[in-house]
Amino acid sequence: MSGSQQTGRGEQLAANLARVEQRIADACRAAGRDRGEVTLIVVTKTYPASDVRLLAGLGVREVAENRDQEAAAKAAESADLPLSWHFVGQLQTNKARSVVGYADHVHSVDRLRLVTALSSAATAVQRQVGCLVQVALDAEAGDRGERGGVAPDAVPALADALAAAPGLRLDGLMTVAPLAGAYAGQPRAAFDRLMEISSRLRETHPAATMVSAGMSQDLDDAVTAGATHVRVGTAVLGVRPGLR
Ligand SMILES: *Cc1c(COP(=O)(O)O)cnc(C)c1O
Repeated sequence: MSGSQQTGRGEQLAANLARVEQRIADACRAAGRDRGEVTLIVVTKTYPASDVRLLAGLGVREVAENRDQEAAAKAAESADLPLSWHFVGQLQTNKARSVVGYADHVHSVDRLRLVTALSSAATAVQRQVGCLVQVALDAEAGDRGERGGVAPDAVPALADALAAAPGLRLDGLMTVAPLAGAYAGQPRAAFDRLMEISSRLRETHPAATMVSAGMSQDLDDAVTAGATHVRVGTAVLGVRPGLR
């Protein structure tokens, strides 16, 4: 990319970031929340490491990816930047070792086998990885969600396992507003439900305060409901080519 194209991209990202920042600030104000209670995580999937570098220059400190291969390469190219990496995609156990190499947080823990794999991978490299239980609000009791996550009834057992696992830290809960089921098209109700599950979780795990919810379309609802972390891709980087 030429210098002037890069300048253009930087200006575009800066303008998009400012709009997202305004939305977060407005939602905080309307909800009587402090702006400092909400952390913006920029989801850089499908976009190049050059964008990650521009974002870091614009003050972004938290970035997320959903595929290990892409994330590992981008994190390596960005190793000199003061960034914290979040893994937010469905994760196979055989990728655990790679993911703990760069991720400070994994938002998508949804089964015991993954807890075991992440724990042994993290202890092997003497790292502490913050973990969130992904909640599938469209899954029936005892089931998993279409896009990963566990039904709410499975959260306590998974949370206990995470809290007890060496190398891992139980940091909270994550959800994606469901496209199907009772909460389809009702992100606010979905996020309120997640907050209830979070409150219950904090009765036994008071340090598990992270609530990761809200994307480009529904971040305002997530902030209103009480999310501590929003994961925003499209509204900052643009519409991704293809469906991911
Ligand atoms: C891609 C992705 C996001 C960001 O979605 P946008 O609609 O582009 O903001 C957030 N969370 C997860 C888990 C994702 O995969």
